[in-house]
Amino acid sequence: MRTLLALSLVLFTGAAAAQQPAPQPPAPVKPTVGQEQSYPAKPEATAPAAEIPHRFWDTKNKSLFAGVLAARALDFASTKNMRARGRDEILLTNEIVDNTPAFVAIELGGAALSVGVSYWLHRKNHHKLERWVSIVHIGVTTFGAARNYMLETRRPAPATFRLVFRP
Ligand SMILES: [Zn+2]
Repeated sequence: MRTLLALSLVLFTGAAAAQQPAPQPPAPVKPTVGQEQSYPAKPEATAPAAEIPHRFWDTKNKSLFAGVLAARALDFASTKNMRARGRDEILLTNEIVDNTPAFVAIELGGAALSVGVSYWLHRKNHHKLERWVSIVHIGVTTFGAARNYMLETRRPAPATFRLVFRP
């Protein structure tokens, strides 16, 4: 009986709560006359082509130039590897790439030229192209280096073989 009483009490209070009117949403705030709502001022329209100038040696360029240098180093290593496996250089001559100081100078020159072209574009306000020079350089050089490593080994015949058979 006590349980039934408690149950009916719970049901009754629950029903009473359900009969309460639903809470009303807050009344919209009416703007007072003479006080128009102010919106933030529209920013001045800027020409879409105008790019914000930046320092030439900013973080992005430093990273890109480091990438170019790394790509040149990869090209150097892969070309030397390819030559050691008996393959011939296509862009330069075998004599140049076999001459390590000359080849290092060419690789560094390539990187310096790339930075120079980027700087020229920066001065001409072509800041996107300026970055793309490095991006394309890294891409093409890395692809070439990968290709060098994938070339089939074609070792030259040993010197003794050549002496005997004169191929
Ligand atoms: Zn720039």
